Order: sequence, then C-alpha cells, then structure tokens
Amino acid sequence: MTLISEQYDIAIIGAGHAGCEAALAGARLGKQVILFTVSADSIAMMPCNPNIGGTSKGHLVREVDALGGEMGRNIDKTFIQSRMLNKSKGPAVYSLRAQADKQRYSAEMRKTLENTPGLKIRQTEVRSIDIENGAVVSVTTVSGAVYYCKAAILCTGTYLRARCIYGEVSMATGPNGLPAANLLTESLVNAGIRVRRFKTGTPARVDARSLDFSRMEEQPGDVPITPFSFETDPESIQKPQVSCWLTYTNEETHQIIRDNLDRSPLFSGVIEGTGPRYCPSIEDKVVRFAEKDRHQLFLEPEGLYTNEMYISGMSSSMPEDVQERMIHTVPGMEHAHIVRNAYAIEYDCLDATQLKASLEFKEIKGLFSAGQSNGSSGYEEAAAQGLMAGINAVRLINGEEPIVLDRSQAYIGVLIDDLITKETNEPYRMMTSRAEYRLLLRQDNADLRLTKIGYEAGLIPQERYERLLKKESQINSEIERVGKVFLGVRSEVQELLAQRGSTPLISGASLSELIKRPELDYEILAPLDKERPKLPADVREQVNIAIKYEGYIRRQEEQVERFKKLEVKRIPADTDYDKIGSLRLEARQKLKKLRPESLGQASRISGVSPADISVLNVWLEKNRRAGEHE
Ligand SMILES: Cc1cc2nc3c(=O)[nH]c(=O)nc-3n(C[C@H](O)[C@H](O)[C@H](O)COP(=O)(O)OP(=O)(O)OC[C@H]3O[C@@H](n4cnc5c(N)ncnc54)[C@H](O)[C@@H]3O)c2cc1C
Repeated sequence: MTLISEQYDIAIIGAGHAGCEAALAGARLGKQVILFTVSADSIAMMPCNPNIGGTSKGHLVREVDALGGEMGRNIDKTFIQSRMLNKSKGPAVYSLRAQADKQRYSAEMRKTLENTPGLKIRQTEVRSIDIENGAVVSVTTVSGAVYYCKAAILCTGTYLRARCIYGEVSMATGPNGLPAANLLTESLVNAGIRVRRFKTGTPARVDARSLDFSRMEEQPGDVPITPFSFETDPESIQKPQVSCWLTYTNEETHQIIRDNLDRSPLFSGVIEGTGPRYCPSIEDKVVRFAEKDRHQLFLEPEGLYTNEMYISGMSSSMPEDVQERMIHTVPGMEHAHIVRNAYAIEYDCLDATQLKASLEFKEIKGLFSAGQSNGSSGYEEAAAQGLMAGINAVRLINGEEPIVLDRSQAYIGVLIDDLITKETNEPYRMMTSRAEYRLLLRQDNADLRLTKIGYEAGLIPQERYERLLKKESQINSEIERVGKVFLGVRSEVQELLAQRGSTPLISGASLSELIKRPELDYEILAPLDKERPKLPADVREQVNIAIKYEGYIRRQEEQVERFKKLEVKRIPADTDYDKIGSLRLEARQKLKKLRPESLGQASRISGVSPADISVLNVWLEKNRRAGEHE
C-alpha cells in the first residue's frame, strides 16, 4: 500500500557535500528537487577534518565555485583560519586551505538549501531505487512512501551498511553515532550494481582546556586572507583568526602502538573494508614507516562554539585505553581529555567504473552517483562530483548533451576520469601528482578555465559572466602591452636589478624578458613600467604567471593538443570488442567490462596497451569510413 507518493524531477539520496551541490545545481537550474538525509541536523556535516581545501583539494573547491557551485562561498562565510599552502613552490601547487567552524558550515549550507526555490529536504531513509525498463522511475523510503522522479542521484557517503569500530567496540551506526542506512545496498545489488566495502578513519577529539600549547608550535593563519570564492570580496573577509598547533608523536607513542597491534581491529582483520593509503591511520604509519622516529600532528579547532580540537595525523581504531595512553605521550597532550574517541568506519560504496563520464550509470538511465559513494574520499572530491551529477541530471531531463570536463580542463575532469576508468581499490583522494596538466589547472585560474562552462550550463548569472569576460580581456591586453615595453640600460633599471640581485643589463631588454627572471616578477618591475594601467590584483597575478611561465605553459598546451586527439575519438557504446580480432585477450576483457567512451579513456585503462589502442583506432576509422559510404 503506497502511503505517500509525490512527483519530482530529481531525487537526491544524501545531503552531504555531494548531495548539497547536486541539489542546489538541480534547483537553481529550475528543477523540482527532493533531498533525502537520515538526519536533517547533519546537512553538509564534516565528520572528519575541520577544514576545506589543501593541496589539490583547494583546486577542486575553486573549480566548483567557478562553475557556480556553493562550497567556496560557504567556507568563505564560515572559516576560522585560512592559509595558502605550498607558497615556497610554484603556482601550480599553491593551494588554499581554510579551517571551518563545522557547526556554522553545516548551518549556513542548510540555510542556503532551505531558501532555494524548488528544493525540499526530507529526513528519512531511502530503502530502494525503483527501476522500470532500465530507467529509474522513483525511490521508496523505509515508510513505503514513493517519490517519483525523472532522475535520481546517489550521494550516500559513508552511511550504507556503515559500521564504526574502535578496539573491541563495533557499532552499526553512521558517523558521529548517526543512523546507518542499512537497506539501500540490497536494492542496488538487485539492480545489478557492483558494490564494494571501503573504510576510512578519524582521530580522537580532545578538550583544548586540557592541552599545553606552550609545548607545541603555533600555526597562525595568513594575513591578508585569500577567499575561496571568486565572488567573495577579499576586503569583506579580513578578520581575526584562530591558530592550529603542531606537535609530534615520539618513540614512546610508537611503542605503545606496537605493543597493542594485536588489539587493533585493523591488524586483527576485524575491519574488512579497504582504507586510503594516502590517509593512513597512526598505527598504519608506525608499521609502514617504522624508520621514522616521529610523525607530525596538527591540533585543529573544530569551531568557535566548542573547545574540541581535532588531532590531524592521528586517525585510529585502537582500543580506547590505548588511545588514551598514546595521546598522553605527545608533547602538549600529557593531560589531554578525550571528548570523542578515534574510530574507523566501514561502509558500502559503488564501483564507479559502472558510470559514464557524466556520472550516470551505463546500464540504468537516469540514475547517477556522486561523492564517497563512488569510492572517493574528501569533502571537496564529493562536492565536485555532486555538482557535475546535478548539472547532468538536469541536462538528461532536458534532453541535452551532458557536460564532461576532460583531464586538460579541470581537476574535476581528472577526478571523474580516474574514478570511472581506473579500478581504484581504495578510497580515492585527489593529489596534484594525478593531474598531468597541473601547470594549466592552477587554483588561481579556475574561473578563466570554467566559468564560461558554468554560464552555458545556466549556473553563472549574466553579470558574473560579463565580469569574467572583462577580466579576460584585461589580462590579454596587459600581456600584449607588457610584451611591447622595452627597458634601456639606464641607472634606474640597473639599480632595481642590483637591489634584487639580478644580472645588470648589457643591452636593452623587454619587460617580459625581465619578468621571466626567477628573482623578478611583474609586481617587482612596476616602478620601471611608467605606462602601467591600474589593474585588479587577480588580473596582475594572471599577467605575471602567463609571462613568467610562458615556455612551460606553451609546452603543456602542446601536450594537451596531443591528448585531445585521442579524447575526441568517440567509441560507440554498442562496440562489439569480440569482433576486433587482433586485440589482446586482457585488453578485450577490460574494454568489454569498462566500455570506455573515447579512445583517450581506453588508453588509460590498465591492461590496455598502446598496441591495443592502435588496433582499436584502425578499427574505429574503418567503421567510420564504412558508415560514411552507407
Ligand atoms: C569517520 C570518517 C572519517 C573520514 N576521514 C576522512 C579523511 O581522513 N579524509 C577525507 O578526505 N575524508 C574523510 N572522510 C570522508 C568525508 O567525510 C567524506 O568524504 C565526505 O563527507 C563525503 O561526502 P558525501 O557527500 O559523499 O557523503 P557524506 O558526507 O557521508 O553524506 C552522505 C549523506 O547521505 C545520507 N544518506 C546515506 N544513505 C541514505 C539513505 N539510504 N537514505 C537517506 N539518506 C541517506 C546521509 O544522511 C548523509 O546526508 C571521513 C568520513 C568519516 C565518516
């Protein structure tokens, strides 16, 4: 008996970082959206690290913002500390990271969701995705209520059949003691969806009043503060910041862990799920990096409303008494009071190789998946996928082609391509090393790369689009102007060069040539550039990078040209690989399983060799010509 039945365009299962972006995109593009969560008080909850951004993750946040997503704006409203990381390295790896007031972050996102027309929130557990003739038609909740929809997006995070574990304690709950979602997995498996078990972990939280910060190294925020959102006026967010604190484990800490490995659910096999290699627990680090005599720990405030501090670098699932003893060996935490235990969480997630680059299932029309449910890890990775899934669910309903960002356009493109192409057997987190074109995919130019695409998608308002066009033309004309500025060998020039320890000129040089010198840049040379127009800081930054790294950028652009040649070669979805005789067996099996959408994607599948790609290329070419003659 159907108790309640309602009709929506898009049903989104999960109001975490993925679900929030998907819901806002769907509603802002004019669709009727229903957003489900097991607890309306956990919207955009941060169950783990109290920060947004960091190396490569900061890039994702900027890209989400450039496309018209919400995460960047939300953290600019709720951060309590901000730092630009990797400033000693090149601009390709500069990454913004902001400490968030977790409670305010969730509350602000909820406020935005609740005030978005066409978007409704529903606290309940979805128990099934209902499919007819290979297409999603509705979702059903634990109460039997049916919500009809034209598309549905799975954003279930770490909740599906979740189990939280520390020492001998194992609880069938979601994070922070919230209810787990125990019914949906069966419905997904019955629909032919491959599911797997992953694990991640979080450290203990301790009471700041019980810590001795004089034994730690203070990590203050940057001044001035750089916003995440291209929409945020930097002047409007300059405010007092809280600090984080650096301390270290030591041999005593490590010995306590070694002495209790037999009680570790991770090492005793109680934990079945596969954990992230790049986010290891402290016990994992002590075993894998036995040669290290100490590991960094950062004490990070969870918010202004609490004294809770997050011990970054010490995620664990050791028994409570061991946690207590290991924490008390750390300088500054000798008398620490644990507010919440560290724990590991196991959960079901999906094999993302079942998805197209649009994040729609290849075999189920109208069903999409985004976030941790795709095997990724991280708020930022989730938000990026949620935004793309939301946009593409709308475009599917509108009968439009999906928006797919490739690896040369965005970290989002790298993220999704890796998830759907590379069979990752552990939670996938983004890293700059994963982005082969990272010199082009900087966090500072995300708007120049993506805002036009956000505008075409309908998420960027006209006024913002015009501001971007103006910025673009200011950058191009200034680069052109600087290229024509010539500096002669005069005392003023020689003095400035000497001040900067730069080789004096023998003959005249262009301003661009000088900007390329490592010890000089566009700002430093301003006194010599009399005609310089007054330009905003973000324009000046782009001019400097474009001139200074011109050679590197051009070489990377040439690589991208080569990359695109294979990327544009589409492979028909119904390709019969058994008919392509000279493909190697392993390649045939992989191609049949993963069904890549392009020759470029096929070339990134492990087990498919360049020789297989040439065979496939010839076959596609022959078929294309045969098709032309029909
Ligand atoms: C203990 C722990 C440790 C973590 N450690 C790290 C780490 O070290 N590094 C890192 O990068 N990330 C870590 N994370 C992951 C990080 O929290 C997630 O990456 C991020 O929250 C994923 O966002 P999401 O939107 O995909 O899912 P989530 O934020 O998990 O949100 C999922 C949403 O789905 C809802 N939901 C699920 N199933 C149903 C259903 N059937 N019906 C209705 N609603 C449903 C939930 O209510 C929730 O709103 C950790 C997470 C946890 C819990």
